[in-house]
Amino acid sequence: MFKALVISKAGEQQQCELRELDDAELPAGDVTVEVQHSTVNYKDGLALTGKAPVVRKFPMVPGIDGAGTVAASSHGEFKAGDKVILNGWGVGESHWGCLAQKARLKGDWLVKLPSAFTTRQAMAIGTAGYTAMLCVLALEQHGVKPADGDVLVTGAAGGVGSVAIALLAKLGYRVVASTGRTAESEYLKRLGAAEIIDRATLAAPGKPLAKERWAGAVDTVGSHTLANVCAAMRYRGTVAACGLAGGMDFPSSVAPFILRGVTLVGIDSVMAPTALRVEAWSRLARDLDPARLDAMTREIALRDAISAGADIVAGKVRGRLVVDVNA
Ligand code: NDP
Repeated sequence: MFKALVISKAGEQQQCELRELDDAELPAGDVTVEVQHSTVNYKDGLALTGKAPVVRKFPMVPGIDGAGTVAASSHGEFKAGDKVILNGWGVGESHWGCLAQKARLKGDWLVKLPSAFTTRQAMAIGTAGYTAMLCVLALEQHGVKPADGDVLVTGAAGGVGSVAIALLAKLGYRVVASTGRTAESEYLKRLGAAEIIDRATLAAPGKPLAKERWAGAVDTVGSHTLANVCAAMRYRGTVAACGLAGGMDFPSSVAPFILRGVTLVGIDSVMAPTALRVEAWSRLARDLDPARLDAMTREIALRDAISAGADIVAGKVRGRLVVDVNA
């Protein structure tokens, strides 16, 4: 038997509870993992609250991320005792996830835990942090260098935002953090932000082109914020767009792209190929300061992930939450 959160649905009503499940109930898969830590990302919040149709079938064990130890494996790459990480691949959406003490997964989805990290640190990073790294890799690939000028991070006090700030600052960029929580300015500066701006300055409909300001940007917000960020990019600047915390729409024009050669790079963590995941995790091991990771992380118990899901969707969670599934 093992403990898991279980989301069920009766009519239109969705509910989530902590339950004891039998190993025999685990789904098909070639690797069984004793999960040690999981996390609550924005998407987990959507799944846990039912605010968006993230969960594709019921009952569902949520948890798009997990880190733990292989208990049994018939996959060539993994054996019992290996430490592994799972991010995405529809886990917690259409396949039972990792807000549980046990998960049965496909070995092809797993990445070996870098020796630099404990399972707790890997889940303090989670999909949010791995996505932040994918954004940083995209800026680098498109030639954005620290000497080119300021780099903007939106949704700064959230999970992706916090990790993106810590990474970019460590790499030598001058980071400007956009937040609705200016009371968190000291927190953002401790992570490495050089300047804080109020997200309200980006939230309203703007002009197709604005004064050139950003050499690069990581956007977790979407909607008018992303449109305004694109409008204020410097000539040949790059925006990595990964989120929709402010809305899924994109009310922009082609002006930044055809007049300033701006590049808008889409970032998807869920189906990203394994080689890119391995690169992202090895760069996280190199470029993420463990003290800064610690400063942005709070640990919670498995049952508390239910209320944390509502909090993250309400924009009330600062930084990252790590879930000790055995607590
Ligand atoms: P968080 O909730 O931790 O962070 C989101 C932040 O966005 C909030 O903390 C807040 O920052 C800001 N925000 C919230 N609501 C609004 C609003 N209405 N308008 C403007 N800003 C707002 O979530 P995550 O960091 O886990 O995820 C961030 C986004 O990235 C989500 O949309 C998520 O779905 C997406 N994502 C996408 C991935 C991908 O593969 N493409 C992977 C991971 C995440 P502040 O208080 O500082 O203003």
